[in-house]
Amino acid sequence: VALPLEVEDLGRRFGEYRGRAIHFAPFAIPVPGPYALTWVEPDCEVILYQLHAPAPAQRHYKAHELGHLIAGHTPEEVTAGHSEYRARGSAIEREAEAIASIILEWALVFDDLPGITLGLTVDPVSRVESAVTLHRRGWL
Ligand SMILES: [Zn+2]
Repeated sequence: VALPLEVEDLGRRFGEYRGRAIHFAPFAIPVPGPYALTWVEPDCEVILYQLHAPAPAQRHYKAHELGHLIAGHTPEEVTAGHSEYRARGSAIEREAEAIASIILEWALVFDDLPGITLGLTVDPVSRVESAVTLHRRGWL
């Protein structure tokens, strides 16, 4: 994943990894309503996020929805979790938020370190070097 981190790029890469595409699309979601939602298609998921929101908020909404997919939450669990969350909070929503926070926190750290690429590199020496340096410590 190239830096600075684009959540959509991370989502595309995660989709490739699991063999099921993830697409992102801004959408004018009626207000009041969710800030984002994941639409399940037979061959992919589409993460719709609020078109009328500031870019940093959109980034968080996308990371939250991606967090649900990374955690392996089913659409039924997410729907139930969102309803429960509005009422009193839910484990599903806390888990998605924790994943989103971890992704975005590390993105903040790495965004300030130019020349770093996360994930596989072609040069094996560079892979070893990056694995043992401070820059990668948090990912271990
Ligand atoms: Zn959620």
